[in-house]
Amino acid sequence: MKSLPLLLLACTAFSSAVPVDPEDDTARLVKSYLNRFYGLKTEAHSRFRRKKIGAVSETLKEMQSFFGLQVTGKFDDETTKMMKQPRCGMPDIGNYVLTQGHPKWSTNDLTYRIINRTPDMRPADVDKAIKQAFEVWSNVTPLTFRRIEDGEADIMISFQYRDHGDNSPFDGPNGILAHAFQPGPRIGGDVHFDEEETWTKDSRGYSLFNVAAHELGHSLGLSHSTDPGALMFPTYTYVDPKEFHLHQDDINGIQAIYGPSLKPVQPTGPSTPEACNPNLSFDAVATLRGEMLFFKDRFFWRKHPQRMDNGFNIISDFWPTLSSGIQAAYENVEKDQVVVFKESKYWVLNGFDIAYGYPKRIHQLGFPRTVKRINAVFSDENTRKTYFFVNDKYWRYDENTQSMDKGYPRKIIKDFGITGKVDAVFQHEDYIYFFRGTNQYQFDPNTKQVVRILRSNSWFTC
Ligand SMILES: [Zn+2]
Ligand SMILES: [Zn+2]
Repeated sequence: MKSLPLLLLACTAFSSAVPVDPEDDTARLVKSYLNRFYGLKTEAHSRFRRKKIGAVSETLKEMQSFFGLQVTGKFDDETTKMMKQPRCGMPDIGNYVLTQGHPKWSTNDLTYRIINRTPDMRPADVDKAIKQAFEVWSNVTPLTFRRIEDGEADIMISFQYRDHGDNSPFDGPNGILAHAFQPGPRIGGDVHFDEEETWTKDSRGYSLFNVAAHELGHSLGLSHSTDPGALMFPTYTYVDPKEFHLHQDDINGIQAIYGPSLKPVQPTGPSTPEACNPNLSFDAVATLRGEMLFFKDRFFWRKHPQRMDNGFNIISDFWPTLSSGIQAAYENVEKDQVVVFKESKYWVLNGFDIAYGYPKRIHQLGFPRTVKRINAVFSDENTRKTYFFVNDKYWRYDENTQSMDKGYPRKIIKDFGITGKVDAVFQHEDYIYFFRGTNQYQFDPNTKQVVRILRSNSWFTC
């Protein structure tokens, strides 16, 4: 995902917004994007220029609102960043969930055919990715999909180059990855992948499974969702096929068309966490160059204490191999790194890159074999001591000598006054903040007392 223009370590939030000038280069990018995905009509004659500026600005507002960006109608860095993300070639207008006119297949038993395969992957891996992508939808509906080898199938799947005869030419590497047609005869339901992408079964290139699962949503009658956690969100996100769970928003959409699954127990999916939900809890919290990173499922927020924006992100957009469920994280200020923990493994992150040789096993840090995972961790940048919380105990690690201090583990209650297990912890200014469920405990290391109990999400602008 080297092409993702996500600037984790750069300060982008306060960049200035410039008004759209149709003569400007960047404005050309805006116009072509809005034209392609938001149905912006461009007029040939410049005497309509003033009107055109208004139309661009209005459509830009529609785009910003779709992606949950600040709605200014002006072109800013956050908007450019979103416009440069690799994405699906289908437009973002319509009913967001159901395609306009509500097209659907008249039968629940559909056929598909793989016309050609990408040379990037083994044929068996292509077939498996496509099969798994169909299962995403058959698992939550009464739909069935049967593969046929020849003749006309309902859903014809192919890899295509540039102009391929359907008035929607592909654009070469990155940019548009694929597109699909809504249910209907002939080309209806068909899926085309851009052959100039590097297709893979994992996160090294674009995951064929991830893109196929999204495109099949269109083949079945879904449009783009505004929910950033949904499969039907227009931009590309990697999720390990083994950890993939169809989002509740997608389940609601497809069941609105085809009805519930015939299984005795209705399948449910994850929902996108909301920063201002009073029931929010976290998996892990860390600092990074004055910002705070709050991890939850497949997502994280980057919050700057003085800024209004809550900075919602998908973990795999930054680090594709870390898809979800980070259990503990801390910043190593001196090395300018973030260290993240999941089960018995840990990774060192240098900005966007995972440091060479990771993941490593937590036992290499000196934990006994009985420790299976870390619940929470923080590092005191003054003493260079790192505190690891495991169930009701904690260990102290010395970053200078790279070894565990003697005399540990100790009981958390004894030294921090907190009973039981903690979800997350971080240090900010003179305090340590422990998170458990929806509560946050502000601990003063000088008086060795919890001085305040707060809501877990108290750092967010709500
Ligand atoms: Zn799409
Ligand atoms: Zn096509």
